[in-house]
Amino acid sequence: MKAVRFFGHKDVRVVNDLVKPVPKGDEVLLKIGGAGVCHSDLHIIDEGTVVGTVFTLGHENAGWIEEVGSDVKDYKKGDAVLVYGPWGCGHCKPCQQSKENYCDHQSEMAYGGGLGLDGGMAEYMLVPSSRLLVPIYDLDPVIAAPLTDAALTPYSAIKRSIGKLTADEYVVVIGVGGLGHVALQILNEVSASSIIACDVTEEKLAFAKELGAAYVVNSKDANAAEQINKITGIKKAKVVIDFVGATSTIDLGTKVVGLDGDLTIVGLGGGHYQYNMSGLPFGVSMTNPYWGSRVELMEVVGLARQRKIHIEIEQFKLDQANEVYDRMRNGKIKGRAVLIP
Ligand code: NAD
Ligand code: ZN
Repeated sequence: MKAVRFFGHKDVRVVNDLVKPVPKGDEVLLKIGGAGVCHSDLHIIDEGTVVGTVFTLGHENAGWIEEVGSDVKDYKKGDAVLVYGPWGCGHCKPCQQSKENYCDHQSEMAYGGGLGLDGGMAEYMLVPSSRLLVPIYDLDPVIAAPLTDAALTPYSAIKRSIGKLTADEYVVVIGVGGLGHVALQILNEVSASSIIACDVTEEKLAFAKELGAAYVVNSKDANAAEQINKITGIKKAKVVIDFVGATSTIDLGTKVVGLDGDLTIVGLGGGHYQYNMSGLPFGVSMTNPYWGSRVELMEVVGLARQRKIHIEIEQFKLDQANEVYDRMRNGKIKGRAVLIP
């Protein structure tokens, strides 16, 4: 079968010679409908965040059940499902609570399909346990694939701050890409705060306005922080969610977050922050959340089925993987790219 394989630093190739896996026990074989292309793949490919192993990329996966192992009772051929991405041990306390994204054994394990183990940029994908599947019912797997990360990750990050996202407050979203464009829609559904969105091109800022941002600011502007603080006034922003995570955006976040606010850094842009007592307003919680829980993924599916969130999708073939990664490097994807076998 065909697959997009990671061979090492900046070496991604489409191969045709992989053997279609056969599921056993609690394993499930999925016929892939779509595999989302996440910026985290670029951190793997370009920056070496996963080394020493060859595997199929793609950690945002959806499709139809093709075949189940002998222990799987609840799924049948043709059922449409998402694959929950962070594969924990399944037994520790966080995993029992469905928070496999914070599995106690994360540091010991190759962590999920497309992140060191074989992922979904392929015709078929072997999922190690039926526990990791979330049904999507009437949703199309092509459209639904990015829900597993581009929607789940911002959803979980926003839920952490939900008590602070009241109608009299401001929330700043930095980076209106795959994750950020869904974050704007989730915020509009679950919070009443005014949204200020930042990106670096006029197209992305116009896109943010279409998705409900009340204000937009180009974070490349030297006075971006002053522009935001002029909007928010003395109280500043109660919540800042940074989907870039570069030193410049973290710095921007520290300048616009207010007393007792949340500064949530989702982006893995390799940025640095040096703590100093007077660098942050008092009471600010700075956090670096990772993905979300399986239960939260079910809630995200609910939002999508009610058409309360919609992922803007550009569709490509598996053969175009390297072209898509290049476009992503250059900020040229609107919403999310999805590879279709
Ligand atoms: P993307 O490439 O789709 O979007 C990034 C967006 O940020 C683009 O619109 C780009 O124009 C914008 N941008 C770049 N520099 C900027 C700046 N200085 N100021 C404002 N905007 C800027 O990426 P994505 O797939 O949405 O992923 C975003 C980040 O989140 C990546 O670093 C990715 O690895 C990370 N991520 C983290 C988690 C997690 O669990 N923590 C999960 C998924 C992705
Ligand atoms: Zn991702």
